[in-house]
Amino acid sequence: MEMASFASIAQQVKLDILSKTHVDDNAAKRKEIARTFISDTITVPTKEMYEYATLSTIGDDVYFEPSTKALEVHMAQLTGKEAGLFVPSGTASNQIALRSHLLQPPYSVLCDHRAHIHKYEAGGAAFHSGAAVTALIPSNGHHLTLNDVTQNMILGTDTHFAPTEVVALENTLNGTIFPQEEIIAISDYVHSHGKKLHLDGARIWHVAAETQTSLKELCDPADSVSLCFSKGLGLILNKGAPIGSCLVGSTAFIAKARWIRKLFGGGMRQTGILAASAAYALTYNFPLLPHVHDLARRLEAGLEEIGVEITSKAETCMIFYDPSSVGVTYDEIADRASDLPEPLVLGGSRLVVHIQTSESAVADFLSLVRQLAEEKKAAGFVKPESTTNGSQYKDIYVRRVPKKTA
Ligand SMILES: *Cc1c(COP(=O)(O)O)cnc(C)c1O
Repeated sequence: MEMASFASIAQQVKLDILSKTHVDDNAAKRKEIARTFISDTITVPTKEMYEYATLSTIGDDVYFEPSTKALEVHMAQLTGKEAGLFVPSGTASNQIALRSHLLQPPYSVLCDHRAHIHKYEAGGAAFHSGAAVTALIPSNGHHLTLNDVTQNMILGTDTHFAPTEVVALENTLNGTIFPQEEIIAISDYVHSHGKKLHLDGARIWHVAAETQTSLKELCDPADSVSLCFSKGLGLILNKGAPIGSCLVGSTAFIAKARWIRKLFGGGMRQTGILAASAAYALTYNFPLLPHVHDLARRLEAGLEEIGVEITSKAETCMIFYDPSSVGVTYDEIADRASDLPEPLVLGGSRLVVHIQTSESAVADFLSLVRQLAEEKKAAGFVKPESTTNGSQYKDIYVRRVPKKTA
C-alpha cells in the first residue's frame, strides 16, 4: 500500500467552484431568466433573500431545526391543517403524501391524466407505493368534475379491480384554476366513501392571488396538500432540482410522512437557510403575483391581436398557444428568439410568466411573433379553415427542449 501524506490527500480533496467569471456569469444569467418563458422554476434568489437566509437558525432538521419548524407551523396555520413538513421538492411532497395515505394494496389513485403526480414524477406512484393510477381526461376539457369522479372511482369488492384509495387533484393545473365548488363536491363524495383527497397545490398561491380566496378555504376540502416555494415564489435557482415544498395535513398523517421522508432519503439537515428563504418568498414574492397575472394577460391579448390561437387561457401565470394559425412553428419562434441581440428562451406551446419576467421580454416576444406572422403572410400564407370537429381530445402541451440548456 502506498502511503500518501495528509497534505497531498487534502490537495486532492480540495475544490474551488468559483470561476474567475462567475459574478459576471450570474449577472448574465439573471438577465436570461428575465427573458425565459419555459418555466417559473428558474426564478433565482435575490441578494436580499440570501441576506435574510443567512440569519436563520442552524439546527439539524432530522432532530429539530427552529426556523424550519417555524415555517412548518406557519404553513399548517395558513392552510388550516394540524401540521406541516418541509420537503426537498414538490415531487417528494406528492410521493410522500401518497405513500403515507396508501396502507395496504390493492389500491389505485385517481387523477387528471395531465396531473404532475401521474405524468411528470417518473412513475413514482407505481414505484414508491405500488399503486395503479386511473388517469382521466376531463369531460369538459378543463378540470375534473364530480361526475367524472363518480363515473370512474373504483369502489366495491370486485376482485378484478384496484379500489381508488386516493383522489389527487391539482390546482392550478397547467395554470388553470380548479373551481372551488367542484373541489368541495368531489371532496364530499370521496369522504363519503371513506377515501382520501390529496391536493397538489404546487401553484395554489396563484389561485389565492387570482380569486382572492384564503389558502385555508382552498385547502379545506383536502386531507393533504402539497405547496411549492420554488415555482412562482422564486425561491432557489433551479434547473431540474428544485428546493423546497411543504406538505400539510393532520398530525398523524404528518408524523407518518416524516417517517416516509426519512425512508425516501429526504430528511435534510441544516435547512434553516431554506426555510428562511421560503419565509422571505412568502412575505415579499407572494404580493408580486397579481402583477405576474396581469403580464400574462397582456401577453395573451398581444398574441390574440396577432391572430395566434390561444389553446389555454391566461387564468394565472401560464398560456398555451398555437402559432400554426399564422403559419408559424414553435421551432421557428424559438430559433429566431435565440438569435435576437438579447435572446429570449422559449420552449414549445407553454409560456410561463414569473416574478422575474421583464416587461420588455413580453414586448420583444410579441414583436417577434408579429414579424414572423407578417413574413408568412407576405409569403402567401392563408389561414386554413378549421378542420377539427371539436369532439376529439387534443393535447395542447407541445414540449420542446430549448437549444441552449446550459
Ligand atoms: C413542479 C410541480 C411539482 C413538482 O415539483 P418539483 O419540485 O419540480 O419536484 C408538482 N406538482 C406540480 C403541479 C408542479 O408544477
